[in-house]
Amino acid sequence: MNKPTDLAPLERVIADLAGIEMSTDAALLDVKSKDYHWYSPILQQQLKDCRGELIVRPVSEDEVIRVAASCTRHRVKLVVRGGGTGNYGQCVPLEGGVILDITGLNRVLHIAEGSVRVQAGCFIMELERAVRASPVVPGGQELLMYPSTRDTATIGGFIGGGYGGAGSVRNGILKDPGNVTRVRIVTMEETPRVIELDDADIQKVHHAFGTNGVMTELTLALKPAVDWVHHIALFPSYRKALEFGVAATQACARANPIRGSDAPPVPPGPAIDSFEITAVDQRFAPFYADAFGERFPPDRDAVFAMVHPRDLDAWRALVREHGGTETMAMNEDELTRHGLVPAFECAWNHTTLMALRQDKSWTNLQTVYSWPLDLDLVERQMQRYGDEVLMHHEFGRDSHGFVVFALPLVAYFDKERIYEIIREHEAEGCLVFDNHVVTIEGGGMKSIDTAQIDFKKLADPHGLMNPGKAEGWLPEYARP
Ligand SMILES: Cc1cc2nc3c(=O)[nH]c(=O)nc-3n(C[C@H](O)[C@H](O)[C@H](O)COP(=O)(O)OP(=O)(O)OC[C@H]3O[C@@H](n4cnc5c(N)ncnc54)[C@H](O)[C@@H]3O)c2cc1C
Repeated sequence: MNKPTDLAPLERVIADLAGIEMSTDAALLDVKSKDYHWYSPILQQQLKDCRGELIVRPVSEDEVIRVAASCTRHRVKLVVRGGGTGNYGQCVPLEGGVILDITGLNRVLHIAEGSVRVQAGCFIMELERAVRASPVVPGGQELLMYPSTRDTATIGGFIGGGYGGAGSVRNGILKDPGNVTRVRIVTMEETPRVIELDDADIQKVHHAFGTNGVMTELTLALKPAVDWVHHIALFPSYRKALEFGVAATQACARANPIRGSDAPPVPPGPAIDSFEITAVDQRFAPFYADAFGERFPPDRDAVFAMVHPRDLDAWRALVREHGGTETMAMNEDELTRHGLVPAFECAWNHTTLMALRQDKSWTNLQTVYSWPLDLDLVERQMQRYGDEVLMHHEFGRDSHGFVVFALPLVAYFDKERIYEIIREHEAEGCLVFDNHVVTIEGGGMKSIDTAQIDFKKLADPHGLMNPGKAEGWLPEYARP
């Protein structure tokens, strides 16, 4: 798959970029040409020979402009890289070229009440720390959501390749109006332009895998900070854990109503604010033993959550009402003191990572169930697959209603079997975001986003950015 760039153009880029941090060290290029696509044995095989040829680390927008100009002038391919935690080979260079490490642009630029402007290469953890510590709002502020890779991913990578995560049960997904309010882009042209996209226009670059411009700055919404209680509740069956998850999601919606005209009905009950709700099948317990020991034993199904301290009593009552018992309730400082893992690192794709750290023969799927969640369907699937598939569900919302995601762990047998399981899920009404393919459309997006492709014609007219990732970009679109 890797087509090495002719030496001459690459050497010209190296000469043009004198003064910018760069490297052609083979070992470094090996590391920086990979992301977390290795979750998928299919992608592992497909991408094993893909390598970038030069890594550059600009530290300012002006330096990004120099990189974009030089690569365009010499028609060298370019892949932007943040933390490199994407799951689908999002920042694996399929056709060699330059890897633009954006982590040198890492400053938090301006914090106001309700919003923050930040450079795209800032690590999300650093950003969260900064907005919590800022005195602009007494008690600090917090991000509306972050991936479970909060501590290792950049904010630009989250917008470029992510979807939602911890916080999504309370505040929706990245795509929802008002969550990301401005993005600043450097185009990939011989004389690059800087373009600012606001509000709905942000969708032109959100989840575009860095195929249509280099994001240099972002403006994001903030809310007053909460010292969330990281909570584990255990249940006698996975069905009971899911029933609790549904009730807790509705309680969260009473605390934070969904406002759209098509908002789903929520039955009366307590309003309980939460930031994360994850149900994990008891067969995951051995993978969590080092992290939690008896707090998650192998004969109980778990719900990991982040709960508003003000609402903890009501949360506990809801747990009891569903036959559950509490085994952990600590804020993040207390967790650190006890050497325990935060609840968001027991959620989303970290659940899979917990398993893979111990046994590399697993892989996973990413599916979505419709609301109201059909518990009989989940039970039928569990019976059908037995120990081949371990269940894990995430409760969330978007601007229209509730969304239940699942990231089931799947014992990998071969590609045919994975696609058989995918087809069975689809036949039962589950949407599958195929995490065993590298393209935007094949994975999460499902269809070609013409607005993104139109923007690429403007922002990357020669088709140099992250080639091979956008199926909607046809070779004939590329200007010579
Ligand atoms: C254990 C684990 C858990 C995860 N949990 C979640 C989760 O909860 N929610 C979720 O949405 N995702 C999740 N992911 C996927 C991934 O971690 C997130 O999407 C993360 O935010 C990506 O950030 P990054 O800095 O690592 O991006 P990278 O992997 O470096 O990049 C992601 C994509 O964005 C592009 N990109 C990066 N920076 C820029 C930029 N400045 N301009 C233009 N394009 C850019 C890259 O080219 C690439 O295509 C998880 C992955 C793992 C391995």
